[in-house]
Amino acid sequence: MSRIKAANTAPELFLRKLLRSKGIRYRLHYKLIGKPDVVVASKKLAIFIDGCFWHGCRKCLRLPRTNKPYWIAKIKRNVNRAKIVNKKLKSEGWKVMRIWEHELKQSATPSVKKVEKFFEK
Ligand SMILES: [Zn+2]
Repeated sequence: MSRIKAANTAPELFLRKLLRSKGIRYRLHYKLIGKPDVVVASKKLAIFIDGCFWHGCRKCLRLPRTNKPYWIAKIKRNVNRAKIVNKKLKSEGWKVMRIWEHELKQSATPSVKKVEKFFEK
């Protein structure tokens, strides 16, 4: 598997639909550190959808039975990389929002509310 993120996944489409319903204009392939899934340039907001497996979501993660140390190390690297990306973006004046994949499968999850709240301002 060479790519961690697949394009146009269900959680991504869910987020885009949510933003559209609020009339928020977003960009998908904005060139930015860490390749955010969605960028709202007008608000300097970068949104990442963190895959529950790849980012080690405590709620959903089920490690494969074999090669556990390998997967744990891999997930740790992803998490560390995400932290570095967050720092870099913030140092350049971006706001960073990270949403768990599992929170974008239904409305009214804490993350969906967080996104809605952000744009109420
Ligand atoms: Zn999860």
